[in-house]
Amino acid sequence: MSYRLRLFAIRHSRFFESLYNAVNPAIVGTLKGINKVFGTKLDRPITAMEAGLKGVLFDCQMCGNCALSKTGMSCPMNCPKTIRNGPCGGVRANGMCEVKPDMKCVWVQAWDGASRMKGGEAIKDIEFAVDNRDQGKSTWLRIARGEIAEKISDRH
Ligand code: SF4
Repeated sequence: MSYRLRLFAIRHSRFFESLYNAVNPAIVGTLKGINKVFGTKLDRPITAMEAGLKGVLFDCQMCGNCALSKTGMSCPMNCPKTIRNGPCGGVRANGMCEVKPDMKCVWVQAWDGASRMKGGEAIKDIEFAVDNRDQGKSTWLRIARGEIAEKISDRH
């Protein structure tokens, strides 16, 4: 089910991009306020909420540095090689993953999703490799605390 929802989100990447751009300022603003009042006390439920929501929709692996808005709503952490710039040279001629032949290549899907997005050109920006020390952290909280910048394209 989750895999099918993942593909659904990529097919409707333009809608999810608009939704993200609409609700993100409110989420980050609210979390900044919560952070001021409660500090880290509510980190666990907030992180669980992000994991639940994004897990269902995008098969999110909670890398702590979300790239969805730059990867066509296709989570790069579902690539077996967890590469942040792709596809690799091993993608099959039919667009399937070389490691998991039953799975569509996450990065072929990413480029497909990005082609429908207003800010889809951002997929061409080179991303750093993911820092595994941030595994399990909430991207939302990290943005609200200024630990990382939002990945919003400036090419709109
Ligand atoms: S890029 Fe990271 S935070 Fe975003 S959906 Fe994938 S695992 Fe989750």
